[in-house]
Amino acid sequence: MSADRATTLRSLPSVDQLLRRLADRPELRTLPRGRLTALVRELLDAERKRVLDGRGAPAGADALAARVVDRAQRAGVFSLRPVINATGVVLHTNLGRALMSPLALERLAAVGAAYANLELDLATKERGSRYSHVEGLLTRLTGAEDALVVNNNAAAVLLALETLAHGREVVVSRGELIEIGGEFRIPDIMLRSGAVLREVGTTNRTHLRDYAEAITPNTALLLKVHASNYRVVGFTAEVSSRELVELGRARGIPVMEDLGSGSLVDLRPYGFPYEPTVPETVAAGVDLVSFSGDKLLGGPQAGIVVGGRAVVGRLKKNPWNRALRIDKLTLAGLEATLYAYEASTALETVPTLRLLTEPLARVRSRARAVLRRLAPATRTRLAARVVDDRAQVGGGALPTVELPTAVVALGRDASDAMSLDRRLRVGDPPVIGRIVDDRLLLDCRTVLPHQVAGLARAVSAAAEPDRG
Ligand SMILES: *Cc1c(COP(=O)(O)O)cnc(C)c1O
Repeated sequence: MSADRATTLRSLPSVDQLLRRLADRPELRTLPRGRLTALVRELLDAERKRVLDGRGAPAGADALAARVVDRAQRAGVFSLRPVINATGVVLHTNLGRALMSPLALERLAAVGAAYANLELDLATKERGSRYSHVEGLLTRLTGAEDALVVNNNAAAVLLALETLAHGREVVVSRGELIEIGGEFRIPDIMLRSGAVLREVGTTNRTHLRDYAEAITPNTALLLKVHASNYRVVGFTAEVSSRELVELGRARGIPVMEDLGSGSLVDLRPYGFPYEPTVPETVAAGVDLVSFSGDKLLGGPQAGIVVGGRAVVGRLKKNPWNRALRIDKLTLAGLEATLYAYEASTALETVPTLRLLTEPLARVRSRARAVLRRLAPATRTRLAARVVDDRAQVGGGALPTVELPTAVVALGRDASDAMSLDRRLRVGDPPVIGRIVDDRLLLDCRTVLPHQVAGLARAVSAAAEPDRG
């Protein structure tokens, strides 16, 4: 290092000096001391490196202090926080899937803030079961004899296979050996459960005789898995739940169906294609049906299993169940969500269903409201306009469905759209859109009414990064 640079480096404040200078800043009051120290150290290191690389003189103490405040405010105190989902994907796994209804939030808060009868039978003062709080709802809503809830649907599948088929064979169609997101592959889960996979049929066609011919004395289960996030189209054949149940009954083998999303209601009146609902699958005689709590159902993350009393009872007794068990907050949210279905208010109060079924005209008017709130100069600069588009349901549900939607399209070219996208993502609140054909699209189907003003503010701030 040249003597020159060594001298200039000495003019950088020390960590302690900078911390003292920041001591009374009201913006940093909620930032824990250790985190502030780490941030100061990180910025000073970066500044030192910049000077050593010969990229200019060190910044003054005031400028460095301002940089710390800016960084701290940008990062916020909490890592996990609300974002504006402008992707149009209603069930976005990376953005937390289903939103909680006001009632679910109320129950979560009430049960979280006090002791609760989680595992206490209030009538007898004896030990109760945490599952009892949703068993009645689930059996009434699905027509099944018994129900169990665990941490998520992947856990439900694991628990079912471990209980029923450890060391034995499970017959499943090749067309249903799916991957859902990076970590969840049906064949991997089966292996981990100790079950032996017996693949039948081909990718596009599987017939009942394929299942029948694969059955041996060591067959423990016939499994049907909802293809969820993909569709085989063209020359295809799959076996219905009812046919599989008939075969299972004839050969004395239980049948399980992993429905994935598993809706409790038929969404055809709202323009969606036919999907077997949970009650229909139960009515077909399937012994065990599993589905997610936070996909189409619109509740908290959970794996729900409904089915015959004997078989669900075996799952409940499996020690694995203790490791996969659901917590009281989830149960409170799930009970409130299921209650909405029983009270026939789900379509209005469960956000997932409301977002999916909201008429295009209302989505359009939200998009126009965002556009109206942009300053005229910003609007011109970003060539902003509202256009109709198509959105996806997400969450591995209804993959071929394209929801009509309205977007605010922004940006004059690809680099404009990309830099706007990046600035919106790191803003407060973060905004996540999608880039299509060199424009940033902010899809308003998933923008909540109370987020409209905040979204417009965020766009204005991102469009003028040098201001303020
Ligand atoms: C989504 C999905 C799962 C996993 O459910 P999680 O609740 O995310 O664990 C399992 N099976 C199918 C068919 C799915 O679509």
